[in-house]
Amino acid sequence: MKNNYKICLIEGDGIGHEVIPAARIALEATGLPLEFVEARAGYELFEEVGTSVPDATVEAVTHTDATLFGAATSPTQKIPGFFGAIRYLRRKLDLFANVRPARHHPVPGSREGVDLVVVRENTEGLYVEQERTYLGGEIAIADTVITRRASARIGEYAARLAASRPRKSLHIAHKANVLPVTQGLFLSTARAEAAKHPEVTTQDIIIDNCAMQLVRAPERFDVIVTTNLFGDILSDLTAGLVGGLGIAASGNIGLEHAVFEPVHGSAPDIAGKGIANPAATIFSAAMMLEHLGEHAAAARLERAVDKVLAEGPRTPDLGGRATTREFAEAVARAF
Ligand code: ATP
Ligand code: MG
Repeated sequence: MKNNYKICLIEGDGIGHEVIPAARIALEATGLPLEFVEARAGYELFEEVGTSVPDATVEAVTHTDATLFGAATSPTQKIPGFFGAIRYLRRKLDLFANVRPARHHPVPGSREGVDLVVVRENTEGLYVEQERTYLGGEIAIADTVITRRASARIGEYAARLAASRPRKSLHIAHKANVLPVTQGLFLSTARAEAAKHPEVTTQDIIIDNCAMQLVRAPERFDVIVTTNLFGDILSDLTAGLVGGLGIAASGNIGLEHAVFEPVHGSAPDIAGKGIANPAATIFSAAMMLEHLGEHAAAARLERAVDKVLAEGPRTPDLGGRATTREFAEAVARAF
């Protein structure tokens, strides 16, 4: 065990101010030597000071061992000078892997036997945001960028992750039948990386078939790797399979830095009421501990959250009456 971990906490916007302090209560209950460094980011900060991610926050993220992020509002209309905090950090720190586990939890609507991870390429594809129009808006074009380098490192990451899991199975989800150039490059490169891990059983699967198989028999999947937009869609589908936004966790992982965050947004409709479900953020904190190599504490923290989800007290989104803080304190007691 390291004698001390520095953890950067960023509340962000809306319910971020509630779920991050809750996750801190749970993290403190682990008894690990954690030192917390607080930093700010998000839309509220942008309104205050004109930037959503100040340099001091980038410093805090880069000089700590890992970061836990609450939520950031992204306004739907374009605001001059504004950029999404998480997207900025992903790009700036080259957090190339978006990792979203979906595991059965004792909440309504969660499918039993599901234990999979979607690994989404986080830096390119259609998310290069190169769009333009022609003929006075009659034609709109978006570029998609696939590079061998990004496909190789995401393929490598996913193959290694699969190798570390009991079932050692990897699906490469793609649409190379329709887009043989871009998706083809991703597929052949990811395949070549996976081939370096002969202990992993690797299969290609066309993305639409993957979506259907996930709905029909999600328990058959272990690790799925795919390009940016497909990963965005698939990981919401898999979150839905195991109980939805209240519990879905994620990590943005690079070679040197990692930022963990719940999948949900800032939930302005319930912000400030103290009733947000902090389970997704605490599961993200458990992923962070796993990333730091604290496997036992990570597993115990997940079990503690599952115990509280099963036995209560639950937050209103799961039919209970507990506050965010009461939930976190119950997790701390169950640890
Ligand atoms: P943003 O613009 O930040 O993404 P949003 O309006 O899309 O905000 P989400 O956070 O994505 O909101 O949430 C969608 C719905 O799910 C909202 O009704 C919200 O209240 C609910 N929700 C999301 N997260 C939680 C949570 N942790 N606990 C309880 N309800 C939640
Ligand atoms: Mg949202």
